[in-house]
Amino acid sequence: MNLNKLIFTENACYKAGRKIKVKGIMVHSTGANNPYLKRYVGPDDGKLGKNRYNNHWNQPMDRQVCVHGFIGKLQDGTIATYQTLPWDHRGWHAGGAANNTHTSFEICEDGLSDRSYFEKVYKEATELCAYLCELYNLNPLGDGVIIGHYEGHQRGIASNHGDPRHWFSKFGKSMDTFRQDVKRLMGGSTVTPKPPKPEGVLYRVRKSWQDKKSQIGAYKVLANAKRKADENSGYFVFDESGNAIYPKKAGEEYSTYTVVSGDSLWRIAARLLGDGRRYPEIKKLNRLTSDIIHAGQKLKIPGSSALKVGDMVKVTASRYATGKTVPGWVKERTHKVSQIENGKVLLGWPDGIASWLPIDGVKKV
Ligand SMILES: [Zn+2]
Repeated sequence: MNLNKLIFTENACYKAGRKIKVKGIMVHSTGANNPYLKRYVGPDDGKLGKNRYNNHWNQPMDRQVCVHGFIGKLQDGTIATYQTLPWDHRGWHAGGAANNTHTSFEICEDGLSDRSYFEKVYKEATELCAYLCELYNLNPLGDGVIIGHYEGHQRGIASNHGDPRHWFSKFGKSMDTFRQDVKRLMGGSTVTPKPPKPEGVLYRVRKSWQDKKSQIGAYKVLANAKRKADENSGYFVFDESGNAIYPKKAGEEYSTYTVVSGDSLWRIAARLLGDGRRYPEIKKLNRLTSDIIHAGQKLKIPGSSALKVGDMVKVTASRYATGKTVPGWVKERTHKVSQIENGKVLLGWPDGIASWLPIDGVKKV
């Protein structure tokens, strides 16, 4: 960390002169494309460079805004931290009660696409937080100790801003990884960081992407969205880009089976899914309310094998669907599925056979 000090003695916040007991640190990013510290920190100390608009924050301002530090670029392009208020001064950064408990700093944003710059300031910020945690005896993993501005809002102690999540998430980072990285810097960490959650991704359940009014739910967990779609005929799960990701069009994820006399759900599951105990999956997929089925009824069979025409398979069955024995040389080869029907697959030329096999008698390779 390249820590410098230039206290904003001309800012009204400094002049207000209130102190806090530091219980945490709030991380901000500026929300403006200007990575240079001189935009906010001045006057020029020889390293910052001159702000030719003279709009830095060390002066009376028309807004009540002031943080305890900034991280960004010096004139020469290297990264530095500037402390701009005593760390235990009451700042004006959160727009809420966090001003009374949290010290703060801003990371100067750039165009948000430069990974190298991001990684440098991210690292600098973790070092600053480790330093502050030592200074105030804070646990970096403690609940509510190191938080982003947006987390402050979620906790009801800050205004509604999204920083720094929108920037961190572009490079696979989150406040969770940040806290873990601070902890690691402070030494002795055995906690593995959680992978960053793709924040804010919702799976929407609608009839079509265009028909927004048909939406009957939006879920963070895909499995929950799928369940909703299963419960409502004609509905699909859409990803953020509007692609229908579930259910797949018929034939892709299911095969169709026509019930014959003497069948039971158990027997069908045993034959087609390899385990009779899996019959509830068939019931669910077909929205059956009872176990009674009748000859001629068409059933969707879950894509256990998820076998599709064109898939390459090996034969595991010892007999063809006709009952004839499968010769060893057929088992040794890889075959292409040319047709799927009623629990059977047809393996096609040019592999040497054109015979029907039970669908559970082949294995995708
Ligand atoms: Zn903020």
